[in-house]
Amino acid sequence: MEFKKLFTGKKGIIFGVANEKSIAWTIAKRLHEEGAYTVISYQNEYFKKKMQGEIEKKRERVGEVICDFSDESQIERLRGEVLKYIENIDFLVHSLAFAPRQEFQNRFLDTTLEGYLLSQKISVYSLLTLVQKLEQDLNNGCSILTLTFLGSEKVVPGYKIMGPVKASLESCLRYLAYDLGERGIRINAISAGPILTSAAKWIPDFQKMLEHHQKTSPLKRNITLEEVANTALFLLSDLASGITGEIIHVDCGYHILSP
Ligand code: NAD
Repeated sequence: MEFKKLFTGKKGIIFGVANEKSIAWTIAKRLHEEGAYTVISYQNEYFKKKMQGEIEKKRERVGEVICDFSDESQIERLRGEVLKYIENIDFLVHSLAFAPRQEFQNRFLDTTLEGYLLSQKISVYSLLTLVQKLEQDLNNGCSILTLTFLGSEKVVPGYKIMGPVKASLESCLRYLAYDLGERGIRINAISAGPILTSAAKWIPDFQKMLEHHQKTSPLKRNITLEEVANTALFLLSDLASGITGEIIHVDCGYHILSP
């Protein structure tokens, strides 16, 4: 007897694929293995081109769109581009963030207004934008997922500007969960432990953070991309039908420790 895969017949869109190490790509791969049709969204043509080898292997169940959330004209075109591939959306993954590099070089106290507003716009308002633009295309019962980090709750010194930005993302998630709940649409976040991806490389002392997590977390190791993707699969699936507005830590238990 063959068991039905978890996402057979389901369609959705995943924002934030830059390369094979992206959390978004690992989630896309797992969704694909479980039978989903996925539209992959890249920030630009360069990332799209870099992923073509991998995409070709899955071509019959993958669509591709480009959207840079700093470009209003691309945001305006987004819905039309998505509708070329899917009309009804069962799941949406928002796995993107940005803060200007120089904001990590100074103290948090020296954060510029320009850097702060841009980080909020790309890392937080993009989620709101997506839900606004695609609201009418989300199926009742659709599941939305975003990615956050412990630096929103506690001071993680190198995380700087991204701490308040992720705190804002988490609050937006709760308000969105409230507004979307009446249609049975759920929205949750994974608070992932540190993983060396291209976004993480810009955070000062990231290697030290990895070593510290490995030594001190209850599971005495770092989290893997696959473990984050497996939790994503659960939250995006009907197995999590009673969960919304939630932030699940996937960090080998690190968040339970006192500093
Ligand atoms: P990544 O670099 O692979 O992904 C970041 C993505 O953001 C990239 O695809 C990039 O193109 C996209 N992006 C940046 N600016 C954009 C813009 N203007 N328009 C559209 N897209 C834009 O790194 P990742 O670690 O996979 O990050 C994914 C998410 O996971 C982020 O929200 C990050 O904060 C979060 N996260 C990462 C870690 C970690 O340790 N890597 C831990 C917890 C949470």
